[in-house]
Amino acid sequence: MTKKEFKAESKRLLDMMINSIYSNREIFLRELISNASDAIDKIYYKALTDESLTFAQDSYYIKIVPNKDDRTLTIIDTGIGMTKEELENNLGTIAKSGSLAFKKENEVKDGYDIIGQFGVGFYAAFMVADVVTVTTKALGSNEAYKWQSSGADGYTIEPCEKDAVGTEITLKLKENTEDDNYDEYVEQHRLQSIIKKYSDFIRYPIKMETTESKLVEGTDDEYEEVIEEKTVNSMVPIWRKNKQELTDEEYEQFYKEKHYGFDTPLKSIHLSVDGTIRYQSILYIPETMPFDYYTKEFEKGLELYSNGVLIMHKCADLLPDHFSFVKGMVDSEDLSLNISREMLQQDRQLKLIAKNISKKIKNELQSLLKKDREKYEKFYEAFGRQLKYGVYSDFGANKEALQDLLMFFSSKEKKRITLHEYVSRMPEDQKYIYYASGDSIDRIEKMPQTEMVLDKGYEILYFTEDIDEFAIKMLMTYSEKEFKSVSSGDLGIEDKEEDNSNDADPQEHKELLDSMKEILAGKVKDIRLSKRLKSHPVCIATDGDITIEMEKTLNAMPNN
Ligand code: ADP
Ligand code: MG
Repeated sequence: MTKKEFKAESKRLLDMMINSIYSNREIFLRELISNASDAIDKIYYKALTDESLTFAQDSYYIKIVPNKDDRTLTIIDTGIGMTKEELENNLGTIAKSGSLAFKKENEVKDGYDIIGQFGVGFYAAFMVADVVTVTTKALGSNEAYKWQSSGADGYTIEPCEKDAVGTEITLKLKENTEDDNYDEYVEQHRLQSIIKKYSDFIRYPIKMETTESKLVEGTDDEYEEVIEEKTVNSMVPIWRKNKQELTDEEYEQFYKEKHYGFDTPLKSIHLSVDGTIRYQSILYIPETMPFDYYTKEFEKGLELYSNGVLIMHKCADLLPDHFSFVKGMVDSEDLSLNISREMLQQDRQLKLIAKNISKKIKNELQSLLKKDREKYEKFYEAFGRQLKYGVYSDFGANKEALQDLLMFFSSKEKKRITLHEYVSRMPEDQKYIYYASGDSIDRIEKMPQTEMVLDKGYEILYFTEDIDEFAIKMLMTYSEKEFKSVSSGDLGIEDKEEDNSNDADPQEHKELLDSMKEILAGKVKDIRLSKRLKSHPVCIATDGDITIEMEKTLNAMPNN
């Protein structure tokens, strides 16, 4: 038996592969399971066109066998197997994907399920193994072959015994060193959790023998170790199921399983899009704010799957900042992945999905506002601030998307209302949307500046958060009505009272005004007689756009 050498480029590539492509060692299992699933898919596709073949779902599975004594891990599949030539071509040539070729030859229409395409995943096995042994028997062949390699120095192929069609891959785990321990890859629980994490939605059962302590029948305190073969993966992902067949509980269950949050989500959104780019998505509006939401530690993002295989835990590009509270996942078969399958080659598809998702979230929030006010208010209590930041930070670019989701406390209703509600009941002679800023509702209600506006019977929006006024400044108008602070010099309602007969004459009070100016010199710009006060003796007014509240916030900012 002669040893064949990898080509020189292959050697370098393998080295690079093993040491630098993947950020995470545990994904070797994802790669091997994906290959096994591809191999079964190939029989499935063949059976579609070849009448002599039948595809009995039950007889196809993947099995994971850890052996602690030998420190080996074996991955068995009942897939299509490989001929001697295929072993040479697909495992002897790095970056050659038999799966990609298969997809082309068989015109697998959208390549919906076959995952492989780069021809490098297999070698991820060398991140954890010294020696990799593959025994395989191809569909329709009577011969079986064994391929073996201990890494960059090449591989051997020889005939061997194997009854069933399919492939068995055995990894001899690397020796532990001071820095690296590989024992976890023969630990039942660890393996189960890796499979759950990356390969939960592989279409075929991934079986594993598990040992569990169970109550002995007929007793109530005697336990016995029961060894049984279990299917570890869930197979059909919830997002590929029909919306109509799913209950709220099932969506909540998925939210918990995926650790999106500890709360019960306010709303779930299930999308199945079949447009220029196909994707499925389940999104959640959480009920409560994560404890780190307004800290630097908080990372926004959705889980990203490609064909049911997890690619990225938090894909930030899928969510705009103003919807950063949304949790959930996206699965698409149309992503062009890069070689590590941990990143995308180009973000055009991602941008399309993101735009689409953003629109859906907005629509869902709007319908929640319409149909379930109480729930919406709960949502707004937790995340309203983020929406206002959204309006502010993009210089009004998100105005259309966000303005109808905003709510502010109303002087009339004594609760939060929307801008639409405000404008729709404005009296005809009212020109502006009035607002008053202050630390709290209580304090705003005591502001002398509100008197005149309220007296006119106009409604005032109370701004109690720093961000409110900044956001409004970016909106500029709502429904063509400008926003106006009750503290601004010109309220737009003084005209009529201009010719009020009991007008005080500034000349008459000149002395008083002058001495007040003197006392408050440097603190105020001017002192004027005002007609807008009813029960308060004085109030402070501002000239220009920046109100006192905004000034306070600006002054409190760190770079000021
Ligand atoms: P990819 O999966 O991207 O094609 P891999 O390096 O993971 O690349 O695998 C290379 C090729 O080896 C596959 O395309 C496939 O043709 C073949 N192969 C790997 N594992 C198996 C398996 N379990 N059964 C059959 N063929 C396999
Ligand atoms: Mg692969």
